Amino acid sequence: LIRFDKVTKRFGSNVVLDELDFSVASGKHVTLIGPSGSGKTTILRLLMTLLKADEGTIKVNGDYLTHEQKNGKLVPAGEKHIREVRKNIGMVFQQFNLFPNMKVLRNITEAPVTVLGLSKDEAEQRARELLDMVGLSDKADAYPTQLSGGQQQRVAIARALAMRPQVLLLDEVTSALDPELVAGVLDVLRDIAHTTDITMLCVTHEMNFARDISDQVLMFDSGRVLESGSPEKIFGDPEHERTREFLSAVL
Ligand code: ATP
Repeated sequence: LIRFDKVTKRFGSNVVLDELDFSVASGKHVTLIGPSGSGKTTILRLLMTLLKADEGTIKVNGDYLTHEQKNGKLVPAGEKHIREVRKNIGMVFQQFNLFPNMKVLRNITEAPVTVLGLSKDEAEQRARELLDMVGLSDKADAYPTQLSGGQQQRVAIARALAMRPQVLLLDEVTSALDPELVAGVLDVLRDIAHTTDITMLCVTHEMNFARDISDQVLMFDSGRVLESGSPEKIFGDPEHERTREFLSAVL
């Protein structure tokens, strides 16, 4: 479903991703771990087209995100093409980024109505189902500032799912939360991982969560995949000393 082919991303002379190859199959849950600065967030930002790759290609659901076909030639993707491919992808950020001036329900219905063209009734019905799923049925009429960080993040998850994406990107979604609010958010994500067929790509420092939900864990170092495997393999019997060092520092 997602495929990176020799993707390089630089910031000035800093090579953040170095000819990176990796892919995520449909319905799988893949977790990216590794030291700070190893390029994990950059991968998610490339998928959201918040950044552009310097070299290489990215495909989502068989379509190039980085390029498009024009007159039989592969050319850099235009805005319209990017918007179409990106419809497959939802993202939840570290900072919840809800619209502060809209009630919870409207935060969730806004994009389905304006981007997907759903009727207000359809969008609201779906939003209420999602609020129920994230345990916030009673907060539809609240404003984001009236909610705790954990509740705001659960609204952000519902908002991402409202677009019915095939892929959900999760970027350190619990890092900005008070410790006592983390478990509620992770429980919601576990539930989604175990009960839906959505593909998940997450960057997290929550290793127990990664162990619970991942089909595959990729250990990054210096813009490359140092090793990858099942959570049992990576957490239980890693190949590289670097992975062992990293895990002993975070576990
Ligand atoms: P963390 O776990 O700390 O979030 P990460 O593995 O997600 O780390 P990235 O956020 O992908 O790492 O950053 C990789 C490198 O790219 C870092 O060295 C960072 O300083 C650099 N970088 C990221 N964004 C920018 C930017 N907009 N301009 C310049 N450098 C950047």
